[in-house]
Amino acid sequence: MAYKINPDVCVACGTCQGECPAGAINEGDVYSIDPNICLDCGTCASVCPTGAIEPGE
Ligand code: SF4
Ligand code: SF4
Repeated sequence: MAYKINPDVCVACGTCQGECPAGAINEGDVYSIDPNICLDCGTCASVCPTGAIEPGE
């Protein structure tokens, strides 16, 4: 399981990347989470100012 970033909501602020303990978040025009590295901790979702990050299904 891994968290996911909704590309329609991400504003590429970088806040999540700085808080991820696993280094699972990659920057870009919108940010993305590597599902093979994500620890499913939820920290990124709690700090995202736009609510772009949600748990995977
Ligand atoms: S859920 Fe945790 S490990 Fe996964 S991307 Fe977010 S902060 Fe990183
Ligand atoms: S904190 Fe939210 S808006 Fe900012 S880069 Fe991460 S997913 Fe995008």
